[in-house]
Amino acid sequence: MLKGMDRMKDVEALRSDALRDIAAARDEAALEQARIVWLGRKGPLVDALRGIKDAPAAERRDLGLALNRLRDELESLMTERQAEISERALFARLRGETFDVTLPGRPRAMGGPHPLQLVEDALVDALHALGFHFAEGPEVESEALNFEALNIPADHPAREMHDTFFVQDQPGYVLRTHTSPVQIRAMRKHAPQPVRMITVGRVYRRDDDVTHSPVFHQMEGLAVGEGIGMHHLKGTLYEFCRAIFGEDVRIRLRPSYFPFTEPSAEVDIGCVFCGGEGCRICKGTGFIEILGSGMVHPHVLREGGYDPAVHTGFAFGVGVERIAMLRYGIDDVRLLFQSDLRLLRQF
Ligand SMILES: [Zn+2]
Repeated sequence: MLKGMDRMKDVEALRSDALRDIAAARDEAALEQARIVWLGRKGPLVDALRGIKDAPAAERRDLGLALNRLRDELESLMTERQAEISERALFARLRGETFDVTLPGRPRAMGGPHPLQLVEDALVDALHALGFHFAEGPEVESEALNFEALNIPADHPAREMHDTFFVQDQPGYVLRTHTSPVQIRAMRKHAPQPVRMITVGRVYRRDDDVTHSPVFHQMEGLAVGEGIGMHHLKGTLYEFCRAIFGEDVRIRLRPSYFPFTEPSAEVDIGCVFCGGEGCRICKGTGFIEILGSGMVHPHVLREGGYDPAVHTGFAFGVGVERIAMLRYGIDDVRLLFQSDLRLLRQF
């Protein structure tokens, strides 16, 4: 196909035709077509390379060099052209997209504290104001601290299987059934110095009905020192209840029994629903039971590192769910654990 001196001229002609085609390719399909035509196995360049052997020996070297150089040049031009086409396509697409600056933003869903958290905060605040400091303990607790140190011996009904979650593979440990072991921890940390502490957290019992959940929350307060008496307990509880239920709250202490306090008292407040007249919720009594309390049992004081002959103290505990249910008029404790936004959005 290529003859004599014409061969180099034909290479030049081939080059200018190829360059024109590459420059004219407006999109990827056209460029791919040009690649097949000029660099393909049936294209003129390959044809010419094959024809080198037919050229006179004196011309072969220059001709080979020229054709190889041309092939390299075309390949790199096509790569460049490819990049230009891609970039142009990207800009074209971006120009085509419209952006409406007047569209309103998408509001982020705002979270809020859970009603139990609101109650916990209120309880803790009320006692902070009275000089109680916050203390914490683990939810997986030793039986020794959860029971024995709190004067609940092994034969006590509270330790039976139907009440307590035991920890498999870790004998001697339970999911704490109350926050009271934190009292022991706080006393052991501070004894023989006086202590005033408040704790709040999750506790676990094998209960599940309208007023009981296997996971629930307790808050409790403890004060130990010299000369602390029942009157301090009553004064503290009165201020505490005023902070939670309002200035006009009435409180009543009734004798009761707890293993870890002696004497012990249940604390009632005047019914918040009927104002003391008597209604279905207070069962006609005009009072609602809200917490348990008492003077710290000498056994517990000793376990905490205090000498009962020198130190006395009081303690009280309250169910956070119970306060939340009273405060917000919720009649099923399980609603507090179902994460239903229709309920939670109301607070
Ligand atoms: Zn009532």
